Amino acid sequence: MNPVALVTGSSRGIGKATVIEFAKRGYDVVINYVSHEEEALALKKRIEDNYPVQVLAIQADVSKEEEVKNMVEEIIKTFGYIDCLVNNAGIAIDTMFEDKTVENFRRTLDVNLIGTFLVSKYVGKYMLEKKQGTIINISSTNGIDTIYPESLDYDASKAGVISLTKNLALQYAPNIRVNSIAPGWVLTEMNQDLEKEFMEKEEQKILLERFAEPEEIAKVIVFLASSDASYINGEVIRVDGGFHA
Ligand code: NAD
Repeated sequence: MNPVALVTGSSRGIGKATVIEFAKRGYDVVINYVSHEEEALALKKRIEDNYPVQVLAIQADVSKEEEVKNMVEEIIKTFGYIDCLVNNAGIAIDTMFEDKTVENFRRTLDVNLIGTFLVSKYVGKYMLEKKQGTIINISSTNGIDTIYPESLDYDASKAGVISLTKNLALQYAPNIRVNSIAPGWVLTEMNQDLEKEFMEKEEQKILLERFAEPEEIAKVIVFLASSDASYINGEVIRVDGGFHA
């Protein structure tokens, strides 16, 4: 039987690259999406056409408990277990400080932080029963030290993800490893509205002088999920090309 990986928010960007990397390594994969059904189904077909693995695509908003519960039940009904959970779904609502609203702050926390908690809670239950599994939470260097007032709500949510990772590693010890990855800038649709001038300035702060490709993050995720990372636990790993503020 193939191992099974669930990647939240995986119809595009880092999540999409990650399900492809898992499929390449023989995992059955679950593509979770909230609104991009067409992209999710196209990705499902692309993986099924290229790799001998089973693919599920499930619509669920990770911030909504009932939808998360139903998603996890559907996966368990289909596969019987989940070996790896990647909490990747995330949003950033960047605005000037004076335009920040409570509503947007709450929505950001709901998706990035509460969503990570909810999916971990429901998937963790089955991992605990099987005494096996690994969880990888996608934080950001914004959750550590590359802070920007325009994204202060996002930065707080990603700092929260690091704290949650350490608590989950403790809660789920000793059989389930829980780690976090903190990417720097990655070339995805999340950054599609950045101005060229701003991007060039940011690139100058990166030793590799460029943003990451989504695949460069995905490869670290699948490494952390693998037995090659069997002694890495409760950790946060920066993948930022050598960013110096
Ligand atoms: P993206 O916007 O392309 O992907 C985010 C995905 O999450 C999308 O598919 C979106 O539909 C999904 N999503 C949003 N809200 C959801 C919800 N409520 N339920 C389920 N899915 C939801 O961006 P990305 O760059 O691929 O981001 C992936 C993760 O990496 C995010 O957590 C992001 O914060 C993090 N990250 C990105 C960067 C970067 O520079 N792009 C840097 C550091 C961390």
